[in-house]
Amino acid sequence: MAAHQEKKFAEERKHQNMQNDTKASQGQWGRAWEVDWFSLASILFLLMFAPLIVYYFIMSCAQYQCSLTDPLLDLLAGNKHLSDIWNRTPMLTYRAAGIYSLWVAFQVVLYTSIPDFCHKYLPGYVGGVQEGAVTPAGVVNKYEINGLQAWIITHVLWFANASCFHFFSPTIIFDNWIPLLWCANILGYAVSTFAMIKGYFFPTNAKDCKFTGNFFYDYMMGIEFNPRIGKWFDFKLFFNGRPGIVAWTLINLSFAAKQQELYGEVTNSMILVNVLQGIYVLDFFWNEAWYLKTIDICHDHFGWYLGWGDCVWLPYLYTLQGLYLVYHPVQLCTVHATGVLTLGLLGYYIFRMTNHQKDLFRRTNGNCRIWGKKPEYIECSYMSVDGTKYYSKLMTSGFWGWARHFNYTGDLMGSLAYCLACGFEHMLPYFYIVYMTILLTHRCIRDEHRCSSKYGKDWKHYTAAVPYRLLPGIF
Ligand code: NDP
Repeated sequence: MAAHQEKKFAEERKHQNMQNDTKASQGQWGRAWEVDWFSLASILFLLMFAPLIVYYFIMSCAQYQCSLTDPLLDLLAGNKHLSDIWNRTPMLTYRAAGIYSLWVAFQVVLYTSIPDFCHKYLPGYVGGVQEGAVTPAGVVNKYEINGLQAWIITHVLWFANASCFHFFSPTIIFDNWIPLLWCANILGYAVSTFAMIKGYFFPTNAKDCKFTGNFFYDYMMGIEFNPRIGKWFDFKLFFNGRPGIVAWTLINLSFAAKQQELYGEVTNSMILVNVLQGIYVLDFFWNEAWYLKTIDICHDHFGWYLGWGDCVWLPYLYTLQGLYLVYHPVQLCTVHATGVLTLGLLGYYIFRMTNHQKDLFRRTNGNCRIWGKKPEYIECSYMSVDGTKYYSKLMTSGFWGWARHFNYTGDLMGSLAYCLACGFEHMLPYFYIVYMTILLTHRCIRDEHRCSSKYGKDWKHYTAAVPYRLLPGIF
């Protein structure tokens, strides 16, 4: 009887989720259909300057001990010309091209050829074949969730090499950092260009394509929603998670190895950065199935923003703290180190619990307990383009009652902790918190704009019940 009721409930839930997600909100899904001048100007700016920004940061570490102002001052004072800086920059090498090709090929093999075994042995882990959200065209994609397995295999091999086999030095990533940057750029541009051509000539699902008619906008924000090669090679899942995020922890380990090589010790700040970012990366892979329901997968199309961003921006700029610590080996006093660890862990806890609360609430359709009580929520409805009415719920309990995006607040606290681990001598390690604040505030506003047009007056009721976005009482 109980089993029968559970099955009925699951079916109702599935039906409701389908209703929530299908064509209904097609008008509000994904990126814009029309391009305003501000979006176009931002896109042109990013297309032109984002690769230069990455180069500037990495070059300033290699040539100016991570000072962000000295290269500019040198150029402005006429002490150096651009050509002087460029001539001192390592070029693409066969060695870096070989390492990078092997790395990407290895990740492709792990992604496509080894079905997940972790979910069979790790209690509570959701892996193997999972369904994504319904796309605007009503398609439900299946994904092979095996990121945790890829991460474990890669790291076991890394440690086996570092401790036993010694095929290559663990400093290999640091030692080839700039030549590898050229390789990452080549892949980032190649995959974005391929995705654009594919969107025009052989899309995976033509109904899930968006064309604005503006070449730059389409190139940047993508045409296809879920480009795939064959049945399983999903561009978004692969490039978002691997090679960039699997590499994140290896890059940090390589920076730690370099510190050891140069100074004979690994500082506590480097250990903190490795541990806190390691927790964040592991969390991402442990929750890879949940990730299928986030904005990246549910709303964003695949273009340069994701393709180049995942290949270049993420591995190079999210790891700036570790790189900085190679040049400035900061040893923190106990109070400072404890403060950073506490802030990092607290931020992670808030980030994870907030995401978990919403996930639980939506999965059980509100039939769950949040902080020991039945959750409170606002019933809301929205109309599909064909005039059909659908229902959903917005939770006002737990962290979702404190602020409308407290998960972002937790993320920002963690990000700040990584930066604070580097001390206060230079600005460079603080780029990350500045960038994350802009990214998540913009994301928050973008998401709320979409929710407001989706839920109308119900969204107003919700914002009246939970008036703050990120910081209760402030913003
Ligand atoms: P959210 O997980 O916050 O999802 C937002 C969606 O949740 C809304 O569109 C709405 O969807 C639904 N929703 C909003 N309010 C409520 C509520 N009160 N109750 C129930 N559902 C609600 O956003 P993201 O996908 O952007 O973020 C996921 C995580 O990933 C975050 O923790 C973020 O910090 C992290 N992140 C990290 C990045 C990085 O580079 N490190 C980049 C981006 C994200 P619906 O239409 O279904 O109602």
